[in-house]
Amino acid sequence: MAIDLHKLTIQKAHEALKKGEYTSVQLTQAYLEQIKGKNPEINAYLEVFADALEQAKQADVKIADSRNKNQDFGLLVGIPCGIKDNILIQGHVASAASKILEKYHATYDATVIEKLKKEGVVFLGRLNMDEFAMGGSTENSAFGVTKNPYDTSRVAGGSSGGSAATVAMDGAVFTLGTDTGGSIRQPASFCGVVGLKPTYGAVSRYGAIAMGSSLDQIGPISQTVTDSEIIFNAIKGKDIHDGTTIDTKTYTPKNVSSKTKPVIGVPRHFLKEGIDPAVMDAFNASLESFKQKGYEIIDIQLPNISYSLLVYYIIMPAEVSSNMARFDGVKYGLHKDGETGIQDYFETRRAGLGREVIRRILLGTYVLSSGYYDAYYNRANAVRTMITTDFLKAFASVDFIATPTAPSPAFKIGEKNNDPISMYLEDIFTVTANITGMPALSIPCGMTKKDGKDLPIGLQLTARHGDEAGLFTIGKDFLGE
Ligand code: GLN
Repeated sequence: MAIDLHKLTIQKAHEALKKGEYTSVQLTQAYLEQIKGKNPEINAYLEVFADALEQAKQADVKIADSRNKNQDFGLLVGIPCGIKDNILIQGHVASAASKILEKYHATYDATVIEKLKKEGVVFLGRLNMDEFAMGGSTENSAFGVTKNPYDTSRVAGGSSGGSAATVAMDGAVFTLGTDTGGSIRQPASFCGVVGLKPTYGAVSRYGAIAMGSSLDQIGPISQTVTDSEIIFNAIKGKDIHDGTTIDTKTYTPKNVSSKTKPVIGVPRHFLKEGIDPAVMDAFNASLESFKQKGYEIIDIQLPNISYSLLVYYIIMPAEVSSNMARFDGVKYGLHKDGETGIQDYFETRRAGLGREVIRRILLGTYVLSSGYYDAYYNRANAVRTMITTDFLKAFASVDFIATPTAPSPAFKIGEKNNDPISMYLEDIFTVTANITGMPALSIPCGMTKKDGKDLPIGLQLTARHGDEAGLFTIGKDFLGE
């Protein structure tokens, strides 16, 4: 029997496994075929794991066992997924799409991987990304760009481009990505799928290769909001290995409105320029559909939001420069010999790191250098607090804040590659959730035609700290799940 993988969800696959319509081995086999057909062109997978079918066999044993005992089995048992290549899976390469880690094998499981293993998922392979998650198009991968399944002359977004393209090409039921400034949400919006950046600390970062430690979060990319919720619930939680993790139960967000439908705030003053008209149309149409569903839409002011991108592009490189210091040719991966110890370091990094990574290390080292530290890093941190305060104030009168996820649909491969500023502008709407630590969800909200191809557009909803549940409710309501 041919399994229909198109837009297959966790729930549907679980039902089919339960009814015995197919086994996890058959489902995994179907995905392996799909990847074989699609991946040579899309380049979403960097590696397909040789033991995928073996993992599926084990899941089938669990399923058979539960069936014999007349018991239910977990929603994720036997469900094939893909993992961004900066999340450690013990024994497998974790390259972060960099030459410097091309042969580095993870010595332990990231906490999210450990949790998913317990759930019984099947790991299909490692997914392409911008090198060390620095970028918005996957063009910075040392292993080739990931193409957008909707139009292969366009990028899939980034940095989790492989994770979003995989879901869009039906190459796994779901994937994990990481998001430091939009890297889950922007590729999700470019590929017409759902992406969640959880509250900072909701998901453990242990075993995720660090980019900007005060900004990074791991999150799911999936076909539906319901799936996103299932995965989030499986991977979240306090972790002894990550002191910044929180128990989201400590937050009990309430609707500000006495009506049954929540209030959505829109920072219109921030949506005036640089946005593709098709994105604006889809955004306005989404607000209209919310109104029709009974939501109240109000205009809000976020006085310091226009500084978000500047703050991000100071704090992020500062953290990048210190996190990248560990790649010294001794501890991990590549080693190149020079004349002296310090020359070894230079040679290794010159050979192993790409241009964008080097650019950010330089920027970060500069903003942290003595004499400039106060002017850049400390000031950016102060403005970070002001931006967070703006959001907290806004959340006194609204439950969600809506913006487009990205100012444009997927752009052409090569279009922005030599222009870092225009690439950085892509992050204008996404970086704020990382700056404030608030959760944000990107959901598909429309399509537009460019050069005869249909391209997806994403809507971003931001919520109060810890209110992922609210995001899932409104997301499902919007998509009619
Ligand atoms: N595009 C952003 C950047 O280049 C976001 C990266 C990310 O979230 N990892 O920094």
